[in-house]
Amino acid sequence: MLLYLPEDHRLGNWRASAEEVSAEPEGEGTAESPYQISNADQLYWFVEHGGVSAHAKLTNNIVAIENLVNSSGDLNGGSYRSWTPIGASESAYGYTCAFSGTFDGDGHTISGLYDDKSRTYSGFVGELSGRNHMNYPIPTHLKTIFRVNEHETNASNLSGSIVCDCGCKYFTILHNENRQYDQSIRYGEQDGLKVVAICNNCRKKHLVFDEATQGYNGLVCGDFKTALDSCLSDYICHKCGSTIFSISLDIEIEDKEQFIEECVNEYPDKFSLDDYIDAFDWITINVCCKKCSKEIEWISLELS
Ligand SMILES: [Zn+2]
Ligand SMILES: [Zn+2]
Repeated sequence: MLLYLPEDHRLGNWRASAEEVSAEPEGEGTAESPYQISNADQLYWFVEHGGVSAHAKLTNNIVAIENLVNSSGDLNGGSYRSWTPIGASESAYGYTCAFSGTFDGDGHTISGLYDDKSRTYSGFVGELSGRNHMNYPIPTHLKTIFRVNEHETNASNLSGSIVCDCGCKYFTILHNENRQYDQSIRYGEQDGLKVVAICNNCRKKHLVFDEATQGYNGLVCGDFKTALDSCLSDYICHKCGSTIFSISLDIEIEDKEQFIEECVNEYPDKFSLDDYIDAFDWITINVCCKKCSKEIEWISLELS
């Protein structure tokens, strides 16, 4: 595949014709029925309209732009349609979402793509939504939405950020951290801290933390009750008032041997070996405001 990325060539904007706009390929974009991409117009349609979690399959070799470069590899003159990397389209939401779908080349090739924009993520695919290696001790409820930061993760600390299965990393956050102080909130004395994130793209709701069921206090001691979602309120940036954030977590992992000794051996009908990942000792939740980029060290809670 050839991706030509000249540095100082600005060759004008490409404009969509009616033909290209109606280039929707066969298929539904699902894993069972991926889009069937057979020509360049369908390929551009996929990146611009397919969505960051769609599935596609190539059914032909595709030359996106004929004679893009000459025999010595230099750009031929002309005006070219620019390629937006999959997972780097900002049109719909004003920010990029990582690609969480699949693109099956099925033995075919793509060549002649042209991209003259400088961006954080370049290439055929921009940013890929990562799936974690199973060896990381990720608490059960975070398994599908926790992206591990490998540089900061070790045997006793799990570090990373929350990414929705649709690829989006921005959320509105519901919580009851202020339950003791806010008179307007009805809460039970035993309500544990609860943090819920709602994806800003697909609106899917993810549980980030529930003190009643997670951590040593919740899982092992059962000290709290799960708060109702109706008792939660929006987290708001105290600098700019926005309610959209990225979320990062640090989790101090419970020592496995100690957990086996204290819990599995003592209460074999209640705990199994693998439960130690849900019995973590400490959670730190930090958020970053999407609008003003303010980083907030929000919650730091010992759980044992
Ligand atoms: Zn989502
Ligand atoms: Zn802000």
